[in-house]
Amino acid sequence: MTTEPDLVVHAVRSVAGGVSGPVTVTVHDGVVAWVGPLDRGVTGGEVVELGDDEVLLPGLVDTHVHVNEPGRTEWEGFASATRAAAAGGVTTVVDMPLNSLPPTLDPEALAVKQEAARGQCHVDVGFWGGAVPGNLGRLRPLLDAGVMGVKCFLPDSGVAEFPALVGDGLLRAAEEVSAADGLLLVHAEDPDVLAAAPAANGPSYDVFLASRPAAAEDTAIARVVDAARRSGARVHVVHLSSASALPVIAAAKADGVRLTVETCPHYLVLRAEDVPDGATPYKCCPPVRDDANRARLWDGLADGTIDLVVSDHSPCTPDLKALGTGDFGTAWGGISSLQLGLPLVWTEARRRGHDLADVVRWMSAAPAALVGLTTKGSLREGAAADLVAFAPDQEQVVDPARLEHRNPVSPYAAARLTGVVRATWLAGLRADPDSGDHAPRGRLLARGEA
Ligand SMILES: [Zn+2]
Repeated sequence: MTTEPDLVVHAVRSVAGGVSGPVTVTVHDGVVAWVGPLDRGVTGGEVVELGDDEVLLPGLVDTHVHVNEPGRTEWEGFASATRAAAAGGVTTVVDMPLNSLPPTLDPEALAVKQEAARGQCHVDVGFWGGAVPGNLGRLRPLLDAGVMGVKCFLPDSGVAEFPALVGDGLLRAAEEVSAADGLLLVHAEDPDVLAAAPAANGPSYDVFLASRPAAAEDTAIARVVDAARRSGARVHVVHLSSASALPVIAAAKADGVRLTVETCPHYLVLRAEDVPDGATPYKCCPPVRDDANRARLWDGLADGTIDLVVSDHSPCTPDLKALGTGDFGTAWGGISSLQLGLPLVWTEARRRGHDLADVVRWMSAAPAALVGLTTKGSLREGAAADLVAFAPDQEQVVDPARLEHRNPVSPYAAARLTGVVRATWLAGLRADPDSGDHAPRGRLLARGEA
């Protein structure tokens, strides 16, 4: 005696369990109950037939999102960020611990975050904590309270309430995290190398680029590797931009250092050569570098030195982007791409001979594994029924005004991309804005829970 599935999806094309092909997927109580060869005889409460031009994918997992609520909700909030995520095929986000007020530095602040998020998330949301001078003794309770790991900065973070670790702070944080069997995320740019570089000011992109040299990343990453090696902690480098750090990363991994690395769509898609002077929507730290660097980042992804691709969605209000003056020195650094990550990466990946299974590995399976979300990141029996219908050949032209995130500023304005998210399901129910108004159904996730 079997109960009828709540949802049945028939798809001629899929990326399911690493295999691409025609499938039928059944969903019961928000969970994938069965994945098998395409069989249109299977029926259920709701039956969805994807078009021949659509591919069924598992929902993406974006572990690098700055939501900024509470405190700087005018930059970005949970409702708008998660609506953008759902529109972009992202069914799980993990929120960064800084730019909200308070920053997520102790269990009490985490509770404030969770309260702010509750009831307004359109996708599932987890949280990172932060490691700063003065709270290293509280990392364990913070991890026990459910953050997925803790993030620290080596350079200035851009906000006063989230200071960088100095001196032996990185190693001490790694030791605390190791003792708690946690995960330490590091913004790896060396403050001394940055201080010795020319200052960023004015509208010249070349001047800005010179102010954030690759050597700052490379020096910091060597320190991160050393701290990971000495502490035994799991350590993750966020938003890698400098390809010249790849050999050190590859060697550390080969040595068994517990190191993972992410890069972001902007480093894989944009090129310094194309950034117009004064175009501050392109400002992020570390910066978008030149075309040769970009090619080597793709090599690093292809050979597994880079583990995953996440957005580093980091919005602010348009005035803080200094759009009027175009001054790279004063503009806030951050690029908002939560909704566009999949078509951005796919457009460039396809041009370089990758297939959608590669993209799903980088943007769904690997980030899910990073944070230990065992029911996310692949389309298989027993997994969360987080599904995406993606049209990989359809073109779109980016109109920032039509993106769901709060402030319509984007370096991708008017970009022509290949690939459109047609539908997103969270736990077996449509979650994308095109599916109409409905109550937000995203859950708040904690470390150790599936
Ligand atoms: Zn970030």
